Amino acid sequence: MAAHLTSDNLNAPPMIDPFGRRVSYLRVSVTDRCDFRCVYCMSEHMTFLPKKDLLTLEELDRVCSAFVRKGVRKLRITGGEPLVRKNVMWLFKALGRHLEDGNLDELTLTTNGSLLHRLSGDLYACGVRRINVSIDTLSPTKFKAITRWGDLETVMNGLAAAERAGLKIKINAVALKGVNDEEIDDLIRFAHGRGADLTLIETMPMGDIEGDRTDQYLPLSAVRADLMDRWTLKDIPYNSGGPARYVEVAETGGRLGFITPMTHNFCESCNRVRLTCTGMLYMCLGQDDDADLRAALRASSSDEVLERAIDAAILRKPKGHDFVIDRETKAPAVARHMSVTGG
Ligand code: SAM
Ligand code: SF4
Repeated sequence: MAAHLTSDNLNAPPMIDPFGRRVSYLRVSVTDRCDFRCVYCMSEHMTFLPKKDLLTLEELDRVCSAFVRKGVRKLRITGGEPLVRKNVMWLFKALGRHLEDGNLDELTLTTNGSLLHRLSGDLYACGVRRINVSIDTLSPTKFKAITRWGDLETVMNGLAAAERAGLKIKINAVALKGVNDEEIDDLIRFAHGRGADLTLIETMPMGDIEGDRTDQYLPLSAVRADLMDRWTLKDIPYNSGGPARYVEVAETGGRLGFITPMTHNFCESCNRVRLTCTGMLYMCLGQDDDADLRAALRASSSDEVLERAIDAAILRKPKGHDFVIDRETKAPAVARHMSVTGG
């Protein structure tokens, strides 16, 4: 650890929340826009934020760099679709300097893969080594039905380009009742067959989506029990820095992760906070409390006000979320969409 300390971060005390959890992971949504309209994430007709409300790329760099000085070791760029933000490669390049300096362990992103065929080489050149790509189905027709606007072939070409560029891939799939529950075996074979981890995610009740989430919700406890009829799953202590719990699938030798915010409360080991593209810091994905870092950024060109605002926010990090999906609780637990805070 001592090797990472430089004059830049030597004196910054680590960010410890009131429950003793060290905050070392920042997820940053760089845009709320997207070239897909996944049914569990967005409604078809979304109203996006006016461009003037967004943090500029320079401001995003400033705020991320302040977090790095305060001990963040992992940065994940997300969205909306992060790669649709104009000039986003400028930000990756700017943030890449913290990897070179040894002040950051990992710069990564979560993407729908639609632009990877164009940008994989540039991402690698900026220091990105691992990426998460969201693919919920291997059927082109279902893919179109889930994403509304997406094209599976383009995403597959993007995956191949990412592999050629040397990026390590993790595939994320949201488990959707009656949609891809019959396909999990194929997704395991597909991901593990190309040396990628696969992570399954439960749908979370975030934002209005023009549909009933109880129709989509598939508890991963049930998926896991079903998989055990056909696969040998062994719990392993592997931790990718996020909330997934992993098993090794003996038949493939690959890793399968479960992100179970609904069936398993993953809050006790939470090490992360999330920044929206307008500079609001959310200390918990499942709570509404936020801190306005844009105001702090714009209040002064020195970073002192910003750093004080970050410190005050971390002290408000709550113990956990209050997600519920049942027939009585129809309204989303939090009104904002996942595309606002990033997945
Ligand atoms: N556009 C990128 C993508 O799809 O990977 C990044 C942003 S997206 C919001 C990040 C992740 O959140 C994706 O894997 C997506 O499937 C997941 N997601 C979106 N809405 C969700 C919800 N309501 N519940 C659970 N996961 C969700
Ligand atoms: Fe876009 Fe990702 Fe949301 Fe799908 S999950 S609509 S790709 S932000």
